[in-house]
Amino acid sequence: MQVNIGPIKDQKGGEFSFRLEEDWSDLKMDGQPLGFVSPVVLKGKIGWTGECFLLRGTIETEMKIACARCLEPKQLRIQAEIMEEFRRAHHRDGQDEYGDDTGAKDDWADEDIQEFRGLVIDLDEVVLDNLLVSVPIKPLCKEDCRGLCPQCGQDLNKGECSCEIDDINPHMDILRKLLDSGD
Ligand SMILES: [Zn+2]
Ligand SMILES: [Zn+2]
Repeated sequence: MQVNIGPIKDQKGGEFSFRLEEDWSDLKMDGQPLGFVSPVVLKGKIGWTGECFLLRGTIETEMKIACARCLEPKQLRIQAEIMEEFRRAHHRDGQDEYGDDTGAKDDWADEDIQEFRGLVIDLDEVVLDNLLVSVPIKPLCKEDCRGLCPQCGQDLNKGECSCEIDDINPHMDILRKLLDSGD
């Protein structure tokens, strides 16, 4: 996902709106598919403030994520706000001193500003970061998902199992009292 800032690069205060759409269904992290089932859509505005290129927008997609209780895959609509600042990298003596983005170190390296070269800003990383922090940590397939039986693993949404489970485990209860009295 890329945006070309050519039209506003010399125009302080200038901004324009854009919409990008990309299929990330093959995207993996640590060998695991991330589960994008709909294209990632970024609707944004980018402006040149004179200090930085400021991007604001919203990102939308759908992901298939396992329910935290029953592990059944659940399709979730993910929406995220995005606001990022970008600055063009320095070129000293016309030479590119910094091999890769990740190795870039300079005056504003401590600030939360992304660097780019030329006229095109690659947005993949910031878009993905903003999406992933918006994914619920414990997604549920439904509010009242009953989860899996802790003894036999049966999906209790699909029917009862024949295990008998006491609601309160007496050993756990004693342990809890001991821990509580310790405070
Ligand atoms: Zn569930
Ligand atoms: Zn069971």
